[in-house]
Amino acid sequence: MVECLNCGKRRDLPEHECPRCSYLGWAMVEELDEAVRRRLRERLLTDRRIRVAS
Ligand SMILES: [Zn+2]
Repeated sequence: MVECLNCGKRRDLPEHECPRCSYLGWAMVEELDEAVRRRLRERLLTDRRIRVAS
């Protein structure tokens, strides 16, 4: 099973793009540990701050 790196949608097999958010990055759910999830969350928060600041 894989999980979309952008929205977290899970599918049995990776597709070319996520049907929900059109993101192209997939990761095996088994390889996504808490450290990776935390980094992704922090990156999303940083992106949001940059967008607000500009
Ligand atoms: Zn997605």
